[in-house]
Amino acid sequence: MNTRFLAPLILITFLSAVPTPAEITPPPSFTLDSEPTENFIVCIDPGHQQRGDFHDEPIAPGSAIQKARVSAGTSGIGTKKAEHTVNLEASLILRDMLQEEGFTVIMTREVADVNISNSERALISNQANADLTIKIHCDSIANDSKTGATILTPSDTSSYTQAIYPESQQFAECLQSALSANGIKVNGIIKRNDMTGFNWSTVPVIILEMGFMSNWTEDQLLSTPEYQQKLMGAVVTAIKTYHNQHQNTL
Ligand SMILES: [Zn+2]
Repeated sequence: MNTRFLAPLILITFLSAVPTPAEITPPPSFTLDSEPTENFIVCIDPGHQQRGDFHDEPIAPGSAIQKARVSAGTSGIGTKKAEHTVNLEASLILRDMLQEEGFTVIMTREVADVNISNSERALISNQANADLTIKIHCDSIANDSKTGATILTPSDTSSYTQAIYPESQQFAECLQSALSANGIKVNGIIKRNDMTGFNWSTVPVIILEMGFMSNWTEDQLLSTPEYQQKLMGAVVTAIKTYHNQHQNTL
């Protein structure tokens, strides 16, 4: 046999054994028509800040009604811990969990000592064109026996938020299911037309009131990393469900 032809023959045989990109089978979790999670932007707004700013701002674009730019929030009945601290602790857990899942995360704040009003927080998520904004808070009420999480959504009748209501409500329902499935009591989904952070938002937005700092037991619970992880794990599940639902309707 003429060996001059052997080397190119071996090379051709070798090249034909290398799979072309089209022949590579995608891993089971990946489907070609799904939007990668990194294209889905979640804005997390840890409620309040170290010091409230009681200068006023309009509660909606062009509104004559004014509210404090940002309040200091509540504090724990037993822990005496500031709400803005608990909100940030949980938000940083949520940020890390979402980044682990490949989502793009925008934070309105990552420290306590800032001065960002509620309308300015909305503008951060608007400018980022976030797919979803989640505002993390804790509740407080005079009745110290009340416990559980509550989800707030924008109003469906206000002209400021009608456009973002359907998707905000869709996510709120995902979140209610995920929290309940994790054994976390949910008091309900409540529409609000008086929240500056909702009225300035052009992207779907909800507030998660994680629980009541006015209840002795829940106040302690809200400060434990385990409970914060449980709550934020449910938020991640809800975001993944919403993300899947959303791309099915594209
Ligand atoms: Zn709050």
